Amino acid sequence: MKPKDVIEVEDRSVGCDGGGGSLGHPLVYLTMNEENKAECPYCGQIFVLKEGAKAAAH
Ligand SMILES: [Zn+2]
Repeated sequence: MKPKDVIEVEDRSVGCDGGGGSLGHPLVYLTMNEENKAECPYCGQIFVLKEGAKAAAH
């Protein structure tokens, strides 16, 4: 099974609407976990923090 494409974002908060259209879903906002990764519970889209983006305070 081919994994979905990972989307790189520059912020630890990201909104996902499933890409819109018939495959879309209501807009939800996700917050990344400690691994700088978030998965949309609706469509399973994976988001990761872009390398070089500002790091969260430790
Ligand atoms: Zn989604």
